[in-house]
Amino acid sequence: MARARKTVTFLASPRLHGRGYVQQGERRAADYLRQRFAALGLQPLALGYFQPFTLDVNTFPGRLRLRVGRQQLRPGADFIAAPGSGPGQLRGQPIQLDTLIFTDEAAGQRFLSAPLEGRIVVLRQRDAERLRTLPDVFAQRVAEAAARIELVPAKLTASLAPEQAEQVQVQVLAARWPATPAPVELAVEARLQPAYPTQNVVGVVRGAVQPDSFVVVTAHYDHLGRMGRRAYFPGANDNASGTALLLELAAHYAQPANRPRYSVAFLAFGAEEAGLVGSRYFVAHPLLPLDRIRFLINLDLEGTGQAGATVVNGKVHEREYQLLERLNAAGGHLPALAPRGRAANSDHYPFSEAGVPAFFLYLRGTPTYYHDVFDRAETLPLSGFAGLFKLVVAYCQRLEHPL
Ligand SMILES: [Zn+2]
Repeated sequence: MARARKTVTFLASPRLHGRGYVQQGERRAADYLRQRFAALGLQPLALGYFQPFTLDVNTFPGRLRLRVGRQQLRPGADFIAAPGSGPGQLRGQPIQLDTLIFTDEAAGQRFLSAPLEGRIVVLRQRDAERLRTLPDVFAQRVAEAAARIELVPAKLTASLAPEQAEQVQVQVLAARWPATPAPVELAVEARLQPAYPTQNVVGVVRGAVQPDSFVVVTAHYDHLGRMGRRAYFPGANDNASGTALLLELAAHYAQPANRPRYSVAFLAFGAEEAGLVGSRYFVAHPLLPLDRIRFLINLDLEGTGQAGATVVNGKVHEREYQLLERLNAAGGHLPALAPRGRAANSDHYPFSEAGVPAFFLYLRGTPTYYHDVFDRAETLPLSGFAGLFKLVVAYCQRLEHPL
């Protein structure tokens, strides 16, 4: 546990810049992983353990400022750039979207006759969604504004985009926005990185009895990177935790005393947060025969666990799920398991779609920080980490010895 905790702390530290596409954060994380793989003596599945690929991704490497009235808002905590925001610098009195346009035709006509070029538009997130219920010209008009400020009710949740709009787009916590209109100063440095080179990190422990049959353990190591010069997304739960668990499983199977009968492959994926890019690439360019994978276990969000684990595909592979339940009950590893159907929510999905039997196990509990600047190592309990480790080892052992 001490080593796992250290791994999570390192991966989530500012030195890795949020493991994204600013300051080569993802590459630093990948270099660290291949060092760990090499130290364990894993066999590389590709030259230097790296399977390279590229992606288009929008980034926020530099200046990110938002001032409203006299108040300077904090990037990350009070506001974030929307994933596809363009770059720009603006100041002026913003225009609040008139919500009468949703109910009153005359208000709609007034809105459509007033051009928004060069202006800063402010709208609530739910009105942004409601815009889609109106004729397209309304959304087009909003898109013509130089900047768009969306007020988000509960929490800021960041993500990545493969393209960049012309418009400057930010999301602000509604509680931080003044009740009375105030002038705005906004500066966003956004850089679209076309064909940014990144990588999956891939190794294997060869099986002693059936080396051409595989159990595969996967976890994504990338995260969302930086949000301006100071703020970054640590991604401790998502997914330094799963990466640390993958490394602990690799350390276990790399010991001669634990040599598995089947080969066990360890795939640490890049660019999951950009839309499962690394795992999709692996499935399209497999480094081991997909039809020789007996089972795949994907690890993502493994930092809590007080409430047990959810098993995606548990309702698809019922017999295997029953086995998992029995092993968990017998060993008392996790407080509870809950099965789910299919879900495209992590790296197991491209494999499942290609016919590879797979579970995605994620732990449930607190804290629930997700895709924000608060997902830090310091507050991550790792309550279910050891239990999940034991459950996965027990499950893999039973796969090798079918009844
Ligand atoms: Zn994740």
